[in-house]
Amino acid sequence: MNALPPFLNIHSHRKPSAKDEFVVRNAYLHYPNSSLSANYFLSFGIHPWFAESNSVNNSFILETLAAQQSCLAIGECGIDRINGPNPHTQIEAFNLQIDVANRLKKPMILHLVKSYSDILQHAHSIKVAWLVHGFRGNEQQANALIDKGARLSFGAAILQDEKLWALLAKMPLDRLYLETDVSNERIQTIYHSAASARNMSVDSLRKAIWTNFERDFNFSYGQ
Ligand SMILES: [Zn+2]
Repeated sequence: MNALPPFLNIHSHRKPSAKDEFVVRNAYLHYPNSSLSANYFLSFGIHPWFAESNSVNNSFILETLAAQQSCLAIGECGIDRINGPNPHTQIEAFNLQIDVANRLKKPMILHLVKSYSDILQHAHSIKVAWLVHGFRGNEQQANALIDKGARLSFGAAILQDEKLWALLAKMPLDRLYLETDVSNERIQTIYHSAASARNMSVDSLRKAIWTNFERDFNFSYGQ
């Protein structure tokens, strides 16, 4: 693509707020009632907070929703050791979703809280690209995840947390994503901050992240 690609917002809970923003919106198991446009796609998943014991049933619903073209990824899903049902229930739901993702060949967007070490044990069963959203760990954790194949997505926390901002600069560019998640920050603000951390132009960062996206999500315009 010769023209500048959009600002990719890989994980958000709202629709795009500008034409040059491309959003993958987290939709849980419900289709949003706003209509989708060329820069607006979805991810479907069972959030670990809502991983109930009927997750087998939910995984059928998930598979139907996730098979649609508008769905680019499975998630957010994962393991949360602070909130939600017991780890056993969460891991059961997570494994079902790994299965769906592998079958549909769609990447996974992971919500991990105090579970970076858990995921290292599951990584081998994930056969698609997987991305840790809202990464807020330390350098050692980041490197361990990257060694196992993870992509790391940074959000609005980099605007406040200088350590995290500095860590972002050390991450391999071909594993990097940016997101707004539930924050009210504009994705453009997060790109500006990340570009200055890496001492590169915002345009080059847009291009690099978009290249990651095309590779990991097998996405190209006009698909
Ligand atoms: Zn989220």
